[in-house]
Amino acid sequence: MTTKQAPSTLQKMGLDTPMALALHLPSRYEDETELLTIEEAIHLGRFNSAQTQGVVIRNQVLFRPRRQMIVTIEDETETLNLRFLNFYPSQQKQMAVGVNIRVRGEVREGFQGPEMVHPTVRVVAPDTPLPASLTPVYPASVGVSQTIIRKAVSQALRDPSLQDSLAEFLPKDLMAELLPSHDWPNLQAAITYLHQPPADANTQALLERTHPAWRRVQFEELLAQQISLKRAHAIRRERHAPSFPRAKKQSFEEGLLKVLPFKLTNSQDRVWSEISNDLSQSFPMNRLLQGDVGSGKTVVAALAAARAMDHGYQAAIMAPTEILAEQHYLKMKEWFEPLGVRIAWLSGSLKAKEKRLAQEVIENGQAQLIIGTHALIQENVSFAKLGLAVIDEQHRFGVRQRLEIQQRVGSELFYCHQLMMSATPIPRTLAMTYYADLDVSVIDELPPGRKPIATKVVKASRRDEVIGGLQSWLSKGLQAYWVCPLIEESEVLQLQTAVESFEQLTQALPDFKVGLVHGRLKAEEKAAVMAAFKANEIQLLVATTVIEVGVDVPNAALMVIEHAERFGYAQIHQLRGRVGRGSADSVCILMYAEPLSMAAKERLQTLRETSDGFVIAERDLSLRGPGELLGAKQSGDAMLRFVDLQRDAWLIELAQQAAERLLAEHADLVERHLERWLGSRAEFLKA
Ligand code: ADP
Ligand code: MG
Repeated sequence: MTTKQAPSTLQKMGLDTPMALALHLPSRYEDETELLTIEEAIHLGRFNSAQTQGVVIRNQVLFRPRRQMIVTIEDETETLNLRFLNFYPSQQKQMAVGVNIRVRGEVREGFQGPEMVHPTVRVVAPDTPLPASLTPVYPASVGVSQTIIRKAVSQALRDPSLQDSLAEFLPKDLMAELLPSHDWPNLQAAITYLHQPPADANTQALLERTHPAWRRVQFEELLAQQISLKRAHAIRRERHAPSFPRAKKQSFEEGLLKVLPFKLTNSQDRVWSEISNDLSQSFPMNRLLQGDVGSGKTVVAALAAARAMDHGYQAAIMAPTEILAEQHYLKMKEWFEPLGVRIAWLSGSLKAKEKRLAQEVIENGQAQLIIGTHALIQENVSFAKLGLAVIDEQHRFGVRQRLEIQQRVGSELFYCHQLMMSATPIPRTLAMTYYADLDVSVIDELPPGRKPIATKVVKASRRDEVIGGLQSWLSKGLQAYWVCPLIEESEVLQLQTAVESFEQLTQALPDFKVGLVHGRLKAEEKAAVMAAFKANEIQLLVATTVIEVGVDVPNAALMVIEHAERFGYAQIHQLRGRVGRGSADSVCILMYAEPLSMAAKERLQTLRETSDGFVIAERDLSLRGPGELLGAKQSGDAMLRFVDLQRDAWLIELAQQAAERLLAEHADLVERHLERWLGSRAEFLKA
């Protein structure tokens, strides 16, 4: 097939080569291999799609109760009405009296006897043979009919070039060794089967994508992914980055360790030595630092920054929200300014002049440490000598954004070390696929003295009681958060609820100062409220989810979350991590309104029972799929089209082994396999 034959809508769907069409696999099938008499179709009844045929004996357009067309067909056994609520004049002509039509749909009992509503209709000669295979139904988009896609696909399947693109090249002995009992067809056979399954195919297995033909395709896809991840790893090791071995005495690193008001935990010590080792290599670090909320990732990032600065390079810390970035900025100022480090702050909300000033010192190298939001990559910033980029809450950034931090110095692409941080643990299946090129360090203990957070689940009708409890809590000199409901449909409504809660709580708690922080405040207003809360000038902070990440006020030991049923696992886990940072016992109250869905009930129960980030992340993954954990920006570019990480987890390991063997023993095959599967999408795997 050539592209000039293909309608442009197909091209828009990316279906512009025989290979792309071959890999456009059906989402389900219709069984047109069987033809029932009208009587049999009626007998089959509702909820079963049936195919039957007959001659049109009547074709009327009614106007009551609304405009509609009723076509009556007949065979030697029975008659059947077909009802069309929307129809074109052409359809009226197509189904003229005397024409033989083949129809497909569910028969149900209508007012005038058995009928099919909006059946699929084809005009055929009565003796037209039935197809031998099931009819594929393809993922389509507006303006492309199934007929067009079916035709293009079956044409593509006959294209001689496909012989080559789908040729079997996995060494026989390799498969036999890795999976002795498999009954998978070869790739070409698998693809053909999936497009044109025989009438007696196991449709259940096809639909659930557990059929051996599916397995074969899924395996190939995972294999491509594993190979490219392994290659990306190798490529990274060949790139050059400045090497930062442990510096001599009188360094920022040493200075920082001296000014810290605490000792590193064993976990922090361990991850720091892993990172320190990476930094001393001459290829770029690509490491994820994972640690539950409050585990103390920031200081590890600061140590890494100190190391880069000790070698005369700049370090940048990027965070996804202004509040979080600002917290980092304040922390870094506290730790590094006494050591004489020059710190620059860059965020989208800076005034043009301040921004220009910041960009200037970043560009001329006066700024050694740069803290900011997305602005760091968006505002056309060029770094004089960036040696390390720390990306906090990395899952909130897309792959592309992470790639963008690599900078150009002159005409040379410059690779800096990258440290990503996340409080959301990566489930094993994701770690083995999307993140396989990341080295991972885990902080698996909290700083000493932390008390576990008691989580309580409380009905909203007990709000007054909760406020009463809040009062005695605040009387002990502790502080609290009141988190307002998330209203995804309307930011205005969300704000309104927050203001209402704020007013109610201000009235109910006259002895205390209540503050309000939400997304609509200007950055400096937000900062002022946060600073007042931190200084205990505000005792109760009413907030929308802007406090979700990174806020650190140890004296705040109580958190109330209103309409907790509207929040997801990760959000509550993150929010809850704002308390339990001081020496007092901490409590998180999840208030919910009824009725509670099954899912919400289970979620709240799990959150009450565990604060283990790994357990919560696994639940989250099974609920929402990997897209969200990977970050919104990435999910649209899902690399795995046919694999479901939950359902097909066992295949990942197999693909990993096969990838290793292929790279070691059959390097020649690797290129072809990647080209076949990834084409232009390969770039995403290099992040
Ligand atoms: P997160 O991992 O969520 O980013 P932070 O880095 O904000 O956590 O640390 C949470 C709190 O714990 C901060 O107040 C920080 O100063 C404190 N902290 C970090 N490490 C230690 C430690 N080893 N001992 C005591 N407190 C620590
Ligand atoms: Mg943090």
